[in-house]
Amino acid sequence: MYVEEMIAGVSQTAGVHVTAQPDSLRINPSSKSLDPGNTATFQATTSTTPFTVTAWTWNGVAPTNGHALTNLSACTAGSSSCMGEFYESGTLTCEAVMNGVTVLAFATVTVTPCAATGDSILDSPEVRKQMLDELAASNPSATPGTGVKKERAGLIFKRPDGSYYLKYIPDSTTTECFSHLQYVPGDSVGDVAIVTFHTHPSNDGDPVYGCPPDTLANGRVVRWAQRRNDGLRAPRANSSGNGGGSDQDWSVVRSSAIDGYTISKDGHVYMLPHDTTQVPVGDEANNPNVWHRKDKNSVCLKHGR
Ligand SMILES: [Zn+2]
Repeated sequence: MYVEEMIAGVSQTAGVHVTAQPDSLRINPSSKSLDPGNTATFQATTSTTPFTVTAWTWNGVAPTNGHALTNLSACTAGSSSCMGEFYESGTLTCEAVMNGVTVLAFATVTVTPCAATGDSILDSPEVRKQMLDELAASNPSATPGTGVKKERAGLIFKRPDGSYYLKYIPDSTTTECFSHLQYVPGDSVGDVAIVTFHTHPSNDGDPVYGCPPDTLANGRVVRWAQRRNDGLRAPRANSSGNGGGSDQDWSVVRSSAIDGYTISKDGHVYMLPHDTTQVPVGDEANNPNVWHRKDKNSVCLKHGR
């Protein structure tokens, strides 16, 4: 509405001139800033007008799982939302039919690359995300001793183009206390296994079930609890305070030709060098090769505890 009145013979206009705006298609949010690998959901919406989504596009083409975005959910004709993990900046477009007319809406996605970690393998967004996915698949929040929480182990391969990926290697004997690692070929000819990896789905001090028996110096064998309330004692996790590896982990990596990486329940990543000139025997607690997550939703890692 507007108000017009004559004051001293001059036309004066006051108030706000409102005309009915046609409804429009929008994407919420219309822009989003992310760390690489963060998940975001985009929702197509109008104020009141019904609409039918006919296509989503990412930088002009149909979104597919790849390097720029992955773990896509919806993002197809008929779905008013599009969700995925984003690794590169770009423009998400929603095409819809509203009142018989094709309309478009846009959202910009800005992905800020993680700062360098100082470690060529951890500088790979793909590997960092895979490590976090393996940690999540270990069910770190499950009740200890129920058989749900399990370590997961694998190998990190280098492709001929210099990029890296983590390959999880299933093993039926794995528990929340230990994992066996079998060496397997990479996904493609020419991929080379360069380091080992396993998860520690417990924080220091948590009881850990499923540990193998220990043989003491006097030959006595100590058996540990395999399940809650099975009458045996469960040792407490202590690998983080031991430079990211149990005594067994350090012993295994030092008898190997390649380094080992671990990730703990709190998201800290450790590199256990096989070379004892880097971390001398007895000095494991001072292992300097440790990184922490930038924040709890980030796949960016920063050097240090
Ligand atoms: Zn371990």
